[in-house]
Amino acid sequence: MKFQEMQLISPLLEAVEEVGYQEPTPIQEATIPLVLEGKDVLGCAQTGTGKTAAFALPILQRLFTMSKVEARGVKRPIRALILTPTRELALQIFESFEDYGSKLPLSSCVVFGGVKQNPQVSALQKGVDILVATPGRLNDLIDQGFIHLDKLEIFVLDEADRMLDMGFIHDVRRVIRQLPQKRQTLFFSATMPREVERLAMSILREPENVKVDPPTSTVDAINQKVYFVDKVNKRKLLAWLLEQPEVVSALVFTRTKHGADRVARDLKRDGIEAAAIHGDKTQGARQNALNRFKNGEIGVLVATDIAARGIDIAELSHVINYDLPEESELYIHRIGRTGRAGLEGDAISFCCYDEMENLRNIEALIGKTIEELVGPWPMEVFTSTPPAPRPPRSSGPRQRGSSSSRREGSSGSRRRSETASRPADRPADSRNSGQRPAPEAGEGQEGSGSSSRRRRRRRKAKKEI
Ligand code: AMP
Repeated sequence: MKFQEMQLISPLLEAVEEVGYQEPTPIQEATIPLVLEGKDVLGCAQTGTGKTAAFALPILQRLFTMSKVEARGVKRPIRALILTPTRELALQIFESFEDYGSKLPLSSCVVFGGVKQNPQVSALQKGVDILVATPGRLNDLIDQGFIHLDKLEIFVLDEADRMLDMGFIHDVRRVIRQLPQKRQTLFFSATMPREVERLAMSILREPENVKVDPPTSTVDAINQKVYFVDKVNKRKLLAWLLEQPEVVSALVFTRTKHGADRVARDLKRDGIEAAAIHGDKTQGARQNALNRFKNGEIGVLVATDIAARGIDIAELSHVINYDLPEESELYIHRIGRTGRAGLEGDAISFCCYDEMENLRNIEALIGKTIEELVGPWPMEVFTSTPPAPRPPRSSGPRQRGSSSSRREGSSGSRRRSETASRPADRPADSRNSGQRPAPEAGEGQEGSGSSSRRRRRRRKAKKEI
């Protein structure tokens, strides 16, 4: 199928041609006609599938063709709202609307937290048709009376599963309460756990289901490899790997913010230019690092899951999982950053003994065994990391990041195993569950801790926005 056969108006076809798309992706083919017809859509698709254009193009067309002429002096109301979990995604979606809508007289605006609100308020006061927002800042601006959604015609809830993971469900529900009952709703999620499905059912009206590229099939296109390596040798393995000529640009994932900083610092010490992005960095620092990476100024970006979610980097050659995620689906989201739009991509994971169970879960999810590579530092430690000693409760306020520093330190002195060879048959039961250090809060990981610890993590995760 061609874009020309999709009933899209010529200003949109011209814009699509300008951005260089030859033909619609499967999600676009399925979604665009439904949205143009005014239907509600429940889309199961991850970033990297062309999801943004799948909703942005028909939204622009509907807003344009159903244009309302406002009386002179009356501010234009917000007619479409796209709610997305992270500021990086919000910016990308906003930029897509600007690109696709470049030939139409519609205006868009983006609001997200972590930056001053005044420029956003000024932009809103000029009147916008399309608003892209993260939930926290949106609610703040609604509370202050800067945003009114009573004239909304189209609502998009993007990355719904991530919204829930990050603890935004209440913020999302607050936003939904502001919306008029009569509206078109588009709901996108990479995965559909029961809670997400319940949310979808509560806000959609007779939705059409669109399911393309379920994560397990998308990853087939990516060359996936794993090195079994001791935790202490991951640093050396990474520096060695990044020196290989086929690694042109690499997005390196760590589980924790502290880990991301440490890896970027170690790489710099090893003479490799790298930058880290995570939720503790300012918006400016994150955007700057991302731009330098996109421009090719630096070849390595080290990121946490939440910070990297949805980041669109054209022609990323490698995704490297410095740490394997505990939540298998994060693996799919991570490696989906490479191999985009039909390009070849490589995903290389480092797996130490403590992460064997994570690897097994990932392999179960993707339905195949990840091919093993043997590097210069094969695994020699076949015992779980002992639990870090707990500091006495009375030792005063906890230092930020101190527990993870201690944990990282413990691996250096870890006992070498009696076995000296690589785990050809992968040790049967490697993980000493509950003894592994929990990931730093706010990185989309759920440890085996109590619900109050989980709640605390969720609260911290919200600060990512
Ligand atoms: P998304 O899933 O919306 O984040 O899009 C992922 C990437 O695919 C972005 O770089 C888009 O610019 C690109 N893309 C979207 N639609 C198409 C298309 N029809 N043909 C080629 N690339 C596309």
